[in-house]
Amino acid sequence: MTSSDGSTPSHPQQAATRLVTAGRDTKAQKGFVNPPVFHGSTVLYPTAEDLHAHRAEFTYGRHGSPTTRALQDVLMALEGPPCAGVGLAPSGLAAISTTLLAVLKTGDHLLVCDNAYRPTRNFCDNMLKRYGIETSYFDPLIGAGIETLFKPNTRAVLIEAPGSQTFEMPDVRAISAVAHARGALMIDDNTWATPLYHRSLEQGVDISMQAGTKYIGGHSDIMFGTIAANAKAWPLIQEAIRLLGVCAGPDDVYLALRGVRTLSVRLAQHHRSGLEIARWLGARPEVDRVLHPALDTDPGHAIWKRDFTGASGLFSIVLKPVPQTAVDAMLNTLTLFGMGFSWGGFESLAIPFDCSDYRTATKWSPGGPTLRLHIGLENLDDLKADLDRGFAALKAAL
Ligand SMILES: *Cc1c(COP(=O)(O)O)cnc(C)c1O
Repeated sequence: MTSSDGSTPSHPQQAATRLVTAGRDTKAQKGFVNPPVFHGSTVLYPTAEDLHAHRAEFTYGRHGSPTTRALQDVLMALEGPPCAGVGLAPSGLAAISTTLLAVLKTGDHLLVCDNAYRPTRNFCDNMLKRYGIETSYFDPLIGAGIETLFKPNTRAVLIEAPGSQTFEMPDVRAISAVAHARGALMIDDNTWATPLYHRSLEQGVDISMQAGTKYIGGHSDIMFGTIAANAKAWPLIQEAIRLLGVCAGPDDVYLALRGVRTLSVRLAQHHRSGLEIARWLGARPEVDRVLHPALDTDPGHAIWKRDFTGASGLFSIVLKPVPQTAVDAMLNTLTLFGMGFSWGGFESLAIPFDCSDYRTATKWSPGGPTLRLHIGLENLDDLKADLDRGFAALKAAL
């Protein structure tokens, strides 16, 4: 292994180090640590012969620049040895749609876990359906039992571990083993844990996607997606990216590169703060239960412990039954927890959710109002004080 400054480290570097060192070519940047933001479409060729042969390090803006290459190098290092390539997309959803278009064709069947991100379902139920591709949804806790849902034309399985609202934890290893035995590709939306805490490509996943909008960016200021694939799947992803013209804007690519350098410290803090607030909420009389796979009381805990090395700051709570007006009074009182979609930034968020009307393979009836929380990087006592005031407002509204 050779590091970017040409020296050979004496032992394999840890992920936190690779996040800092990968993708750096200071000589090419005249000594500066970071590459510039290359804004570019046209790349000029020095001679007609070079032009005819497409002979150049970079050939066209859509196909990459030194900025995109630096980020791809970091993401490759983050994913580890099974990763044969990483594609960049303009959003997390674009990473998902590009992946599905890359691996599926008319007449194929796709299996998707019932707790998948809702826009993923919308893509399957509308666009894939229009192209003659059938999607079936499955219970995320099905494990090896997924075997019975396979058809001769099942081409791929898509999971989210854990689902980003309800946090059921699928058994990625068991489902992957069945998928591979049946000749299907295994796709994982790895946004929650990132490859830092869930090395999905090493656990049987062929294509690992992330909404880079979340923890890679880390500052709620970009839209971005990544598609990492092993050697078996990368040619399909690479081809789809070329044919579809998928690329990400240079400023967002730069901000993703800037964000990913500090991923390990941010995520460690989200993990710690998330768990502490989850435990604190679990002891509150207003809370029926906390949905967080890193809690040892969670049904998904054994799988989390086996397959993950950390948790992010996103989890949900089920409140004891109260009218929605009381929940809204709580949300309107919180000041540190903002109300808004997305997550993975430095700030805390709280939103109500209800997936009972669109799940099809499982019934979602938690027995009380549900809130999804993102625990940001604020001080924990301040966050608890904010939640205290919120619960007081909830009780006052009863
Ligand atoms: C946010 C999110 C996406 C989509 O990412 P965008 O960048 O918003 O398009 C996909 N999957 C999961 C799990 C997400 O949380």
